[in-house]
Amino acid sequence: MVAVSAWGRLSALPHDTHSLSDRAQVPAQIAAASAARPGLAHGLGRSYGDVCLNPGGLLWQTRALDHFLAFDEQSGVLRCEAGVSLRDIQRLCVPRGWSLPVVPGTQFVTVGGAIANDVHGKNHHVAGSFGDHLRRFTLARTDGSLSECVPDEPLFAATVGGLGLTGVIIDAELQLKRVPGPWLTVETLPYRDLQEFFDLADASEAGWEHTVSWIDCLHRAGRGVFMRANPAQLDRAAPAARAGRRVPLVPPVSLVNRLSLRPFNALYYASKGRRATSVQHHENFHHPLDALMDWNRIYGPRGFYQYQCVLPFATGRDGIRALLDSTAAAGMGSFLAVLKTFGQRESIGMLSFAMPGVTLALDFPNEGERTLKLFASLDAIVREAGGRLYPAKDARMPRDLFEAGYPRLAEFLPHRDPGISSAMSRRLMGN
Ligand SMILES: Cc1cc2nc3c(=O)[nH]c(=O)nc-3n(C[C@H](O)[C@H](O)[C@H](O)COP(=O)(O)OP(=O)(O)OC[C@H]3O[C@@H](n4cnc5c(N)ncnc54)[C@H](O)[C@@H]3O)c2cc1C
Repeated sequence: MVAVSAWGRLSALPHDTHSLSDRAQVPAQIAAASAARPGLAHGLGRSYGDVCLNPGGLLWQTRALDHFLAFDEQSGVLRCEAGVSLRDIQRLCVPRGWSLPVVPGTQFVTVGGAIANDVHGKNHHVAGSFGDHLRRFTLARTDGSLSECVPDEPLFAATVGGLGLTGVIIDAELQLKRVPGPWLTVETLPYRDLQEFFDLADASEAGWEHTVSWIDCLHRAGRGVFMRANPAQLDRAAPAARAGRRVPLVPPVSLVNRLSLRPFNALYYASKGRRATSVQHHENFHHPLDALMDWNRIYGPRGFYQYQCVLPFATGRDGIRALLDSTAAAGMGSFLAVLKTFGQRESIGMLSFAMPGVTLALDFPNEGERTLKLFASLDAIVREAGGRLYPAKDARMPRDLFEAGYPRLAEFLPHRDPGISSAMSRRLMGN
């Protein structure tokens, strides 16, 4: 048994870990192993909470399923095993003029993990989420069967965003998109309040492929920094890959706290407080946190939570205001605070998170009851607004909020693999 934590480092509980490395063997391997107790696939553990944990049970590590199987440079169709990381794909394909059409805020995510949480990026309004670019995948079930799944099939829609509960994805075929190179033209625009944020988001949707913003959640009006970017055709060599810096140890207390947050936010806003245009490498723009390995350690030994919700457009403006006010009233705040609008596209997955609306993500150090009390008040706002929380980031949402936010749950449940279970499925689905 090995102690395994998710990205939030809220727990380190024992798991019986097994590495999957030969894809031909996977169906038999998971069938035999799960006969005694349920298992769960595990990618790079970049989910924040318990969606990737199965304490006391089996964890099938997929990182050794890391082979590229085929790449057609004419059509941009890539087939690879499910443990290949998005970073490996980008580093192979971007120099050849092809990119993943959707990338989340970190590249240290496997293809299987990206499918199971149907991850989104800064271009949701243009490209939807990861599952929208999947042509097919192979799914092993614990009854020993193998299915080749294609869009329009119920098992496809159950597995995209299916939280790893429908089987183990072995390999996948993705449609990449053409890019002129690794560079992006980036505009940075400060905004003074939430109204300006929404105006900028509206004005940017048609002409900009990527949009995102940082919001100063300690500021009463909701000031922030809006970033929008488009691919750039530049004859400039990509920078040499630098050795990543690393947070070397876990400090005894969280470095993000009431004392540090206000000056952090003020400094960050001041440093970005003027409209500017720059050229950035795609990795720096999309994955700034990847430059600091193990940054999750800065929250200290108790770990941290991320609270990410999406609210429909109709209730989003008032709802975001209310979420920020509640956070401020509780005397709490977040440095990594991201506000972004999603596009109108409905996600393909029965339990996919992204939906038309506005999404807010806030990181909080784990202060026990105090943090959970704040979350209860935020939950009430999300429930009232008809929104939902993101399972990839969650470790504690109440079951009724999950059921209210995911109306296709009843359609999803018959597709579950009975040999698979996670801490999250037991918490939110009863088994
Ligand atoms: C810094 C940071 C930024 C992030 N930014 C974003 C963002 O912008 N947008 C976004 O959507 N997400 C974001 N995330 C969340 C992250 O993209 C997801 O949690 C992703 O699913 C993690 O993939 P993983 O390979 O680490 O999978 P894990 O976290 O190990 O597992 C996630 C789920 O996938 C399942 N799974 C993994 N492999 C397989 C497989 N082969 N077959 C079946 N199921 C499988 C697991 O069972 C689990 O349910 C971010 C995370 C971090 C740490």
